[in-house]
Amino acid sequence: MKVNLCCPDSRKSCAACCGLYNVSDGTRDALHEKLSRRTSLFQGTARSVEALIRFQSTIRAIEIDSPLDPSIYVCEFTGFVDKDRFTPGCLLHPTAAGNGGIDLRGLCHYGSMACTSFYCPAWEELWAEERGVVLGLLDDWHLYGLVINDLDFVKSLFALLRLRVGSPLSEPRVLAGPAAEVVMEMLAWKVSWPWKGDSLIRASRYYCKRAPCADESNVAAHISGILAALGSTFGIETPMDGAQEFVEDALDRFAGAYGK
Ligand code: SF4
Ligand code: SF4
Repeated sequence: MKVNLCCPDSRKSCAACCGLYNVSDGTRDALHEKLSRRTSLFQGTARSVEALIRFQSTIRAIEIDSPLDPSIYVCEFTGFVDKDRFTPGCLLHPTAAGNGGIDLRGLCHYGSMACTSFYCPAWEELWAEERGVVLGLLDDWHLYGLVINDLDFVKSLFALLRLRVGSPLSEPRVLAGPAAEVVMEMLAWKVSWPWKGDSLIRASRYYCKRAPCADESNVAAHISGILAALGSTFGIETPMDGAQEFVEDALDRFAGAYGK
């Protein structure tokens, strides 16, 4: 059975396709504050159609920010669904606190059917070792939600790691050994990329289908894929001088740590 990428464990989850990152300030602090405010307000909201519509209107009035991509809806009903506020998710879901098993998602912009049946391309495209390493290393919702569904970033990153060591990756060897630190550093480029400048954008790419790579062993194409993904995540418009060498350096350190 496939791992549930949307909510793999109690430490992290993804709500990218609910529009979480489709805002002008997608930094962790800003999103945490927004999700917490919605969650607290929702806790005091009756589960009646009138009250839930009032909740939605209140959130719309508070969050006047224009979406980065107007074609993707920023759902007002995304909040934290655990008491520790580690996992963003759907406040209207039947299993969410206070809903008594009733599915309220019909009230959202997309409607219940779309929310129930949507799976981003990562569900199909990520290999078991890729999923395993990402899930094993990441335990923060903000970074997890930026990484797990970005196929250009994840698939090219893992292709480069495999090419650099000349073999398929052993998930236990990556996770338990010194290579884990280097891979973690590379995954964290989605929030700490040195060329991001003062950008507050953390655009999600869950809807981007990865173009099939004509030659999976083409290192230059994979590095370009990673740089393009990071450029669009942060809205970078200037050339990223030295970025290719920066990626190569991390790959060298990975190979040294993993061992050939
Ligand atoms: S973007 Fe993908 S992994 Fe994230 S919540 Fe949506 S379907 Fe799940
Ligand atoms: S109602 Fe749909 S779009 Fe909104 S948070 Fe729930 S699953 Fe996401």
